[in-house]
Amino acid sequence: MLERLLGDVSPEVSEILDAALSGRELAVEEAERLLQATGADFQALLRAGDVARADDRGDDVSFVICRNINFTNVCYVGCTFCGFSRHREEPDAYDRDMATLVEKAEDAVLRGATEVCIQGGIHPGKDHNHYREILLAIKRAFPELHIHAFSPEEIDFSHRKSGMPLHDYLAWLRDAGLGTIPGTAAEILDDEIRKVISPNKLRRDRWVEIVTAAHESGLRSTATVMYGHIETPGHVARHLGLIREIQRRTGGFTEFVPLGFIHEKNVLFNHMDARPGASVSEDLRLIAVSRLFLRPWIRNIQMSWVKLGPKVAQISLQCGANDFGGTLMEESISRESGADFGENLPAEQMRRLIREMGRVPVQRSTTYEVLQRFEDPAQDPPSLEPPQVRELSGPARWRNANERSAPVAPPR
Ligand code: SF4
Repeated sequence: MLERLLGDVSPEVSEILDAALSGRELAVEEAERLLQATGADFQALLRAGDVARADDRGDDVSFVICRNINFTNVCYVGCTFCGFSRHREEPDAYDRDMATLVEKAEDAVLRGATEVCIQGGIHPGKDHNHYREILLAIKRAFPELHIHAFSPEEIDFSHRKSGMPLHDYLAWLRDAGLGTIPGTAAEILDDEIRKVISPNKLRRDRWVEIVTAAHESGLRSTATVMYGHIETPGHVARHLGLIREIQRRTGGFTEFVPLGFIHEKNVLFNHMDARPGASVSEDLRLIAVSRLFLRPWIRNIQMSWVKLGPKVAQISLQCGANDFGGTLMEESISRESGADFGENLPAEQMRRLIREMGRVPVQRSTTYEVLQRFEDPAQDPPSLEPPQVRELSGPARWRNANERSAPVAPPR
């Protein structure tokens, strides 16, 4: 009977999956083929992604307790997929001062964070000194906190203002407290696509130059892709090929993170005929292909719960993902484009979601050192989240009586 499960898999896909599981590196064309798998091929692909995940990373699922801090939403770059940026004169434009940034870092520390992730718009009134001052202010207050900050777009902008050689500039930031950089602003590393979705953003070669220089300067980074808009499977496969090539040279990527396009509120979907984000099958296919294609070079495949939602995120743990990403605490980049899966996923909820899939939650550092394995739920630490007041629905008399009682602690 079990043979029926795999009986319909095409010989071509079967051969590619077999090769990937036997340890042969896949060709870009093979990744492109897998990214179009349907039916029995699709099911076999997800299963192969999961088997490779078990071989590469076992049953641990990691997460990091972190807080996003956006220091400004003022930006004039004009990416067509962005719902986050504002021009200076708009009423909801903001430019946070150092005291506010340090306050947010303090809130993060009190809630158990080991990392702050700092990114912002490209504010024309700022320069390289501003970026360094942010690092110095946070490190002065919290020397132990890991600072994961400044996308290659922000590095490009601030580096050009500095007039320094790129490696010197990165070392200057590193010495001020920069720990790692986000591998965002990658979108699709193909200039034909970039000219449409982010015409004023750094080009492919500059992204590669900055990320390579960062790795050479001791600053590791994540690697990302944004999919589900105007790209084809070929673009995604070539993007994966480029990421693997960089990793082969530098070894500096900590993980690969597929980021689905959030379409609701931006120009790219509403006025430029982009697709309305990826389907669930596309999300899961890419997780599996990332696992199979990038092994053994990149061993951590992270899903984005903000983009997928916690339920699809759980399923992705059975397709090749081994990392649940960050708790975030505050998220506005996806939300402002229309994502509706929340801004904060506390550690206790991460542990629950991971355990529901029969896996072991592990708190990690930004660079994947294990900080704590949570094998026994009875030994879990208490929540550090502030109590939440929930708005209730239901009969008014019942609701009013309960709303008068104390707010509930977040669920474990
Ligand atoms: S994606 Fe970043 S660089 Fe592009 S418009 Fe938005 S904030 Fe600016």
